[in-house]
Amino acid sequence: MRGAVLYAPGDVRVEQRQDPRIEHPTDAVIRLAATCVCGSDLWPYRGVEPVNKPSPMGHEYVGVVEEVGGDVRLVKPGQFVVGSFFASDNTCEICRAGYQSSCVHREPVGALGAQAERLRVPLADGTLVATPEAPPEDLVPGLLAASDVLGTGWFGAVAAEVGPGRTVAVVGDGAVGLLGVLAARQLGAERIIAMSRHADRQKLALHYGATDIVTERGDEGVARIKDLTDGLGAHSVVEAVGTQESMMQAIRATRPGGHVGYVGVAHGVELPGTELFYSHVHLHGGPAPVRRFLPELIDLILERRIDPGLVFDLELPLDQAAEGYRAMDERRAVKTLLRP
Ligand SMILES: [Zn+2]
Repeated sequence: MRGAVLYAPGDVRVEQRQDPRIEHPTDAVIRLAATCVCGSDLWPYRGVEPVNKPSPMGHEYVGVVEEVGGDVRLVKPGQFVVGSFFASDNTCEICRAGYQSSCVHREPVGALGAQAERLRVPLADGTLVATPEAPPEDLVPGLLAASDVLGTGWFGAVAAEVGPGRTVAVVGDGAVGLLGVLAARQLGAERIIAMSRHADRQKLALHYGATDIVTERGDEGVARIKDLTDGLGAHSVVEAVGTQESMMQAIRATRPGGHVGYVGVAHGVELPGTELFYSHVHLHGGPAPVRRFLPELIDLILERRIDPGLVFDLELPLDQAAEGYRAMDERRAVKTLLRP
């Protein structure tokens, strides 16, 4: 089969990879309907994370089950399924508490390379959620978004305790930040401040329910949030970048007693203890337990109540994955959908 492999920073190739097969009785093999490039794929692509060996890429996927192992009971060949970036059993104590991305048996799907024609999914019964029937073609991008960026933005909003009457600020205008805005709207936030300097992303943020746009960053961005909130700061801040600057911006834009939901993969973030101590801010985040939210998100998409697929502003055949990475790296695209 064809699949994307990262050889070195800036060097993505689509090449012949070995066909996946059932390796454990709890596995499924799926044929991908669509896959995509994640903002977090850009960390190794840019050389911020080391690339020590040629690495299959991709951890976002929807597709049709082709084959299941002997112990798989819930997932059946022919079903259209959505999964997430950590395979999880969905039965252990951590999973049952809603933290499937820390499942005691978790396996990273990224290591298996979902930017490909087919994918082996471990722990299929716990990981995959089937739609009632094959979805209409125009909903496939939205379901693909649920696989990671929507689930992650949603977790950011939940972790930030977004709810009715709340003022929410979202740091980061990538796909996760934009879908954090969508999540905040769905969860009933009264006011949603999107921090973005790009006109096209501001437009989508407003479409998804942002009430205010702040273009300033860093201390100036924090000052603008304070201006908009009677000097207090937001109740809830979603951090969707993962840098020192964005994390401090999120913490400082939150009022005492408020909550930061941080879902940008942290790179070099160091929190100052004394400032944190006096901030009275709750911090919660990490790799999103997307599996917790998938059934609800799939329903919202199938009922056409949300349209997270709009974050894909570039669609390419899988064979052109390298251009998909380049476009995101150069910020010509928010998010690239790849068609195997
Ligand atoms: Zn588990």
